Amino acid sequence: MSEQLFVVSECCPVGCGFPVVLLSRRGSAEIFTYCDACGCTWVDPADAHLERGVNEITGIADRATRGVELPSLEQVARTGLELATLRALSESDWGTTLSELNAAIEARVTADETARR
Ligand SMILES: [Zn+2]
Repeated sequence: MSEQLFVVSECCPVGCGFPVVLLSRRGSAEIFTYCDACGCTWVDPADAHLERGVNEITGIADRATRGVELPSLEQVARTGLELATLRALSESDWGTTLSELNAAIEARVTADETARR
């Protein structure tokens, strides 16, 4: 069975036209929004809309250095974020997978650490 994602915007402020979904930091209850087309994240779902304009550019590898998880409906409901949710999306319709995303984050974090040495 495919995992379910929560879509909070149909187009990020960058203008990708790609569904913006909720993710959580691995090992944390902290939830943020993410657009896989540009790789950007926003804490507030209100900032993840095209009309809002780009106020912040934070890549996913900077936001979640230890990787990401898909928040459960319970987690989303607990934070009140279900009010910002437009629809559900199955992981197979997302365009990426959680494991691909986590591999990309790990590669990016490792590259950053190497660059800092
Ligand atoms: Zn985007």
